[in-house]
Amino acid sequence: MSLFTCLRHLGAAPLATEICLGCRLPASGGLLCEGCKTDLPWNREACPRCAMPSVLNLPCPACLRRPRRFDAAWTAFRLQPPIHAGILGLKYAARFEQARLLGELMAQGLRERETLPDLLLPVPLHWSRLMRRGYNQALLLSRVVGRELQRPVDAGALRRLRRSSDQIGQSARARRRNLRGAFDCQRSLEGLHVALVDDVMTTGATFDELTRVCRRAGATRIEVWAAARTV
Ligand SMILES: [Zn+2]
Ligand SMILES: [Zn+2]
Repeated sequence: MSLFTCLRHLGAAPLATEICLGCRLPASGGLLCEGCKTDLPWNREACPRCAMPSVLNLPCPACLRRPRRFDAAWTAFRLQPPIHAGILGLKYAARFEQARLLGELMAQGLRERETLPDLLLPVPLHWSRLMRRGYNQALLLSRVVGRELQRPVDAGALRRLRRSSDQIGQSARARRRNLRGAFDCQRSLEGLHVALVDDVMTTGATFDELTRVCRRAGATRIEVWAAARTV
């Protein structure tokens, strides 16, 4: 499939009957049948502030001790099989159908939220990484979620000014230091409720830094949405 047809497919409305990507049996109105959907590692009971698994959706001890900068965090899944493979395919192998699948599943959960944001802001990639990869997986997900929830997406609002060195294995403090001044915001977000969107939430350090930037641009409420969370 060419890049062009992939992207067209991404924007297309779901067909009435498709083949389930999980079990290869007919699935009506989606990319997964109901059985395969149920079996996914949904992050149903989680801390409302940081999306870490937490019974009865109670705030977790870490957030009670030291609240995050963002107002709320939500992820559809825990980063476990088969979601892990789906995200790797989207991020590193241009498997664009995974953006549609994950985005639709995210929207399904997000529809239940009391209020939805005015604007979706994908987490930006540095231009050099964007050049190498050819696409930003956070933007692909945002477009699907935005279409499903009828919320606008601003792909150019946030900019990554410098590449952060590999953060794997770094302490939380080192990650924060590494990200200081790594982003800016190109527009006013005065009075807006926004959601920052990415494929994976790990420590949340990137989201914390982007929250600072969005607050400075005037956003009043900042949520964090991701397809999956490391747990
Ligand atoms: Zn299935
Ligand atoms: Zn928490």
